[in-house]
Amino acid sequence: MSGSKIRVGIAGGGAAGLYAACCLAKFSGGKDIEITVIERNSIPGKKLILTGHGRCNITNRKDISDLKKGYHEAENFIYPALREFGPEETIRFFENDLGLAVKEEDNNRIFPVCDSAVKVRDAILSYLSCRAKILTDTKVTGIKTGEVFSVSTSNGGLQFDFLILSSGGSSFPKTGSTGDSYKLAEALGHTIIPVRGALAPVKTDKESQQFTLALSGVSVNSKVSLFVDGKMVRAVSGEMLFADFGLTGPAIMELSREIPDKVTGNTFLELDFIPQLNEEQLDQEFLKLISEHPDTKIVNLLSRYVPSSVACEICRKADVYGLYAQGFTKENRKRLCREIKHLKVLVDEPSSFDKAYVTRGGVSLKEVDRKTMESKKVPGLYIIGEALDIDGISGGYNLQACMSEAYLAAKNILGN
Ligand SMILES: Cc1cc2nc3c(=O)[nH]c(=O)nc-3n(C[C@H](O)[C@H](O)[C@H](O)COP(=O)(O)OP(=O)(O)OC[C@H]3O[C@@H](n4cnc5c(N)ncnc54)[C@H](O)[C@@H]3O)c2cc1C
Repeated sequence: MSGSKIRVGIAGGGAAGLYAACCLAKFSGGKDIEITVIERNSIPGKKLILTGHGRCNITNRKDISDLKKGYHEAENFIYPALREFGPEETIRFFENDLGLAVKEEDNNRIFPVCDSAVKVRDAILSYLSCRAKILTDTKVTGIKTGEVFSVSTSNGGLQFDFLILSSGGSSFPKTGSTGDSYKLAEALGHTIIPVRGALAPVKTDKESQQFTLALSGVSVNSKVSLFVDGKMVRAVSGEMLFADFGLTGPAIMELSREIPDKVTGNTFLELDFIPQLNEEQLDQEFLKLISEHPDTKIVNLLSRYVPSSVACEICRKADVYGLYAQGFTKENRKRLCREIKHLKVLVDEPSSFDKAYVTRGGVSLKEVDRKTMESKKVPGLYIIGEALDIDGISGGYNLQACMSEAYLAAKNILGN
């Protein structure tokens, strides 16, 4: 340490890095601390301003024991961080320190009242303006350990007593997150769990695209199951949106993390448009409707359950479009039921980093102390944000992870 001054370097000025700078400043308790954020772009938070469709879904107000379940395999790792600095603390920080009032929307999602991710980024930068140094257009190219951290950058060398690695993942590379965290951490002896896109739309094969294109822009609630090599990997119920390239929407994006790196012809999504009824119940229901409405077209009867555009395409696929209830055979019912409950859509390619909101994989959690975010390999190095092998579901989970982890790192550096 240079005298009593604590020099902290933060490699990456995205959500995690900016939050870490805020926490260091807020909780420094009069300690002499010099905070330096190193950001390769000309302005920090390029991804942050895209969040929540430009509105920034800051966090999620679920109870911590529920919230942690949204982090998949990392739920136990992240639990202490969420407990120490969870949604309530985040909300207080936004309202009291950043001066941004928040509001709660459906599914406990928290947004700033101003509905502006740019204003969130600007409020953070304004908070940091006299509390931290922000070096922009400066890319971290290497880290050497020793008495201090010697960080080489595109603008020369820097030295720090502590270093926070927050250079993000590989998703949305146009925002500056091109996987540098992994290279830097690996060079320091860390294991990188192979990365892939998560929270991404799914591109389907050409044949399935004919179906999805016809319904482009339509959203339905359905149960979606992902099959890899013929085996069901995961099923999610929720909203799904048809698009010209394939499928998107919350249910699809949540499943996307399970799509393997190499997609074979046997990786597909099975769509169930009426999950509330099993096949037998659906058949009974149809028999009843058929006897009650013999002069009605089948497509119109199906429209009672799904949007009429979806009913039309399903009936076309089942080759029953134009048929009336009267004379609708058992074979026709079977074909229709198959398309309603087991419509198969082939996945064309792995989740693309260009479109994935977050990265699955990253620095192995086994090598990071979950109570402090300090590396178990390199004392004084802290790893936070998407650099870590943590990806949350959508709904404010990923930004909350950044905030909780940033707080733990700051607290430990400050010795609080
Ligand atoms: C379109 C979109 C919408 C999203 N919406 C939400 C939402 O509403 N709510 C939510 O919770 N999550 C959301 N997310 C996810 C969330 O934005 C990320 O999880 C979060 O930004 C990760 O923060 P991070 O700081 O770890 O990485 P990033 O935000 O990616 O920041 C990393 C920073 O490091 C910089 N950097 C990289 N390499 C270097 C280097 N070598 N030297 C210097 N700087 C470097 C990058 O330029 C970047 O600024 C969304 C993501 C996307 C793409």
